[in-house]
Amino acid sequence: MADKILTGIPVATGIAIGKAFFVNRNHRARLPRQTVTLDLVSNEVHLLQDAFHSVEAELSATREHVPAELKDYRLLIDTHILMLKDPKLAGAAEEYIKSLGLNAAWALEKAVSDQEAAFRAINDPYIRERMQDVRVVADKVLAKIIGEETDLGAMEGRAIIMAHDLTPADTVELQVNKIMGFATVCGGKTSHTGIMARSLAIPALVGVNKLEDNVHDGDLVVLDGLSGKIVVNPTETELAEYNERAAYFEEYTRKIKRHCHLPAETIDGSRVQVLANIELVEEVASVLDNGGEGVGLYRTEYAYLNRTDLPGEEELAEKYIDLASIMSPKKVVFRTLDLGADKFISSYGELGETNPAMGLRAIRFCLKNPQLFKTQLRAILRASAHGKVSLMFPMISGVKEVRQAKAWLAQAKAELRREGVEYDPDMPVGIMIELPAAVMIAEYLAYEVDFFSIGTNDLIQYSIGVDRTNHHVSYLYQPLHPATLRTIKLVVDAAHQAGIEVSLCGEVASDPFCVPILLGMGIDSLSLTPQAIPGIKRIIRQTNMHDCRKLLKEVLECRTVGRINDLVMDNIFKHFPDEVTFFSSLLENDEAPS
Ligand code: PEP
Ligand code: MG
Repeated sequence: MADKILTGIPVATGIAIGKAFFVNRNHRARLPRQTVTLDLVSNEVHLLQDAFHSVEAELSATREHVPAELKDYRLLIDTHILMLKDPKLAGAAEEYIKSLGLNAAWALEKAVSDQEAAFRAINDPYIRERMQDVRVVADKVLAKIIGEETDLGAMEGRAIIMAHDLTPADTVELQVNKIMGFATVCGGKTSHTGIMARSLAIPALVGVNKLEDNVHDGDLVVLDGLSGKIVVNPTETELAEYNERAAYFEEYTRKIKRHCHLPAETIDGSRVQVLANIELVEEVASVLDNGGEGVGLYRTEYAYLNRTDLPGEEELAEKYIDLASIMSPKKVVFRTLDLGADKFISSYGELGETNPAMGLRAIRFCLKNPQLFKTQLRAILRASAHGKVSLMFPMISGVKEVRQAKAWLAQAKAELRREGVEYDPDMPVGIMIELPAAVMIAEYLAYEVDFFSIGTNDLIQYSIGVDRTNHHVSYLYQPLHPATLRTIKLVVDAAHQAGIEVSLCGEVASDPFCVPILLGMGIDSLSLTPQAIPGIKRIIRQTNMHDCRKLLKEVLECRTVGRINDLVMDNIFKHFPDEVTFFSSLLENDEAPS
């Protein structure tokens, strides 16, 4: 048996086998806590100040090497530099050295803990996020003080990075150092670390408990980004198994990527568009590389997070125009802000809602904050003059909401017209179908818009009543629940009856088990994470619609998820024997990380 097997949340697929190399350890556990005599106080103060200065100098140097396409990270590095320059933290630590005679490391740790306690009392998710940044910066200074900082430059050959957390500055270094994969203690699927891993296209896990206690520098590790496991010092047999699995995965990826630019057309000639979901403009390279036929969901809220101010129209327009122009003539669907629930911005603070997922989020939040909404609408309209742009509103619950949102859009258009600013007057406008209410009145909503996009991540959450972030009930989060399938079918049928297109952009679109059923329903396009595009296109190209419709008919007659699962598995074994090994490893992803 291997020394240890740890589990985490897989955020980028693939298998890496190599030596572990630790960066950004959590030094707090082993912090020297000593008091110093009066004559040594000034030494400790200098040690503290030097550490602050040298981390600041290093970050400034890294900042200079940030490639143009990662300019968002430059902003984050700037925030960290500002935190280092802020005299409050260094000043408080210095005071502890002088007044209590604490050594520099202990004094700094105490100053950070004070700030954490003060911020905790405020109970604002944004502030909590800022506090995490202070923590990251302080840990770098601590590492300097105790002389335990790890330099990526010291890495011999390629390695698998293990870290407590990775900062934006590390991101840039990681790009330069060509690492094989990484695992962190902190982070979630949508944290910037996860997004970064996907854009680097290396296997990665986040949220790995006890990583620092169980993996040591130089350990041989298998990082399995398919099943979310880290195998520490595997046995010869385990190693051979993983080598075989890695080779299989590489061969599979190579094979499917060879054909990823071919159209997603079934054997009997039906075309489905396969588009990409992105959070950052920087991801377009990966969209194009993986054969994405456009961007079906640009989650615009990311640009509003991780910052203290709101982006202005110019900043947004520049970003949106870049995206529309690079993707042109392929289409880009901008989703207007989906803030609220778990995504808050500082300027609006905590709303103190008991049930934020059902609170003032997405379109509701925008309609309550029309200035913020209109700034974004104007920026999207300006981008529409530079490419094939569509816009969609999230979390629509009724006809009135659509009309209100469209009224703001009309006002933004009128302003731009008066100002002589160009935009596409025929830019298609759609809505996301994410609420059961929207499903039930889909036939009315269809007359208000040009297209639907089904957001199954939320639709499943609201229709089965299962919080998508709550691991206690994750076993109930079932794309193949008979209710989910019927719900999706109602929406597809309503759209087609009204003569509009319907896309699906939740995680279901990248689920190989669900795709044949969606094809059977006649879905027009699928939008999914870029790395999953080649695999899904391959399935579509090996399918014929006759089989998909037959499968759909059979599953719609089933009363239980279990029976539907069996039918879907049979279908996979029958039609995609080559993919079975790969798919069964995907199935292991369903295990909640321990
Ligand atoms: C969805 O709800 O399915 C969706 C795509 O939106 P998000 O995951 O951003 O809520
Ligand atoms: Mg959603």
